[in-house]
Amino acid sequence: MEDGYKHRGLRRQLVRTLKKKGIQSSTVLDAINKVPRHFFFDEALLPHAYQDKAFPIGEGQTISQPYTVAFQSEKLEIKPNDKVLEIGTGSGYQACILLAMGANVYTIEYNQKLYERTRKFLPSIGYRPKFFHGDGSQGLLKHAAYDKIIVTAGAPNVPTSLINQLNKGGILMIPVGDSKKQQMLRLTKVDDKKIKKETFDNFSFVPLLGKEGW
Ligand code: SAH
Repeated sequence: MEDGYKHRGLRRQLVRTLKKKGIQSSTVLDAINKVPRHFFFDEALLPHAYQDKAFPIGEGQTISQPYTVAFQSEKLEIKPNDKVLEIGTGSGYQACILLAMGANVYTIEYNQKLYERTRKFLPSIGYRPKFFHGDGSQGLLKHAAYDKIIVTAGAPNVPTSLINQLNKGGILMIPVGDSKKQQMLRLTKVDDKKIKKETFDNFSFVPLLGKEGW
């Protein structure tokens, strides 16, 4: 697959759209400008790659809308070398954005076919997070603790295990709600006894499955 003049132009356009929608972080916008989102689409679907829309990726799952990816990434306040756990690898696009922002990324996917597909695909385009297969609704204890945790599927509640797996000062971004819409929450672990909770707009994710999911 090539990443030509036309693709780079479409990407700059997408960055302008995201700026207009309120994304300000230059680290996030640079990452969106860098990761070739069209590599995640079949050639025939290219016109969809740089629209600010979610898109089906098979197995009943979706590649998140660029605005959603940018919003969660911005609110995570990623610093270089932050250890980040992503729950819901899916297409791998969000993981690439976090890597492009300089994070050390651990990503876990429940669906075996998607896990296998993405684990092969991402390195082929130069992105190498650490891949895991299994139920991430209770985090990934084996490699805890993390500086940041991002959940990219809609959860019924905030799993306590995810808070437990955060470092002091760590941030959890998680959409919580019903199957149609979820409110974006940011939980900051100020210390072992104090959690700061902030609420943002509604989003629409596919459901988080597993023990702490639906
Ligand atoms: N981050 C993805 C979007 C993923 S859609 C991207 O950038 O494309 C949500 C993903 O979460 C789906 O792939 C789904 O299979 C996965 N998922 C759902 N429940 C899960 C769980 N308990 N653990 C890990 N992954 C889960």
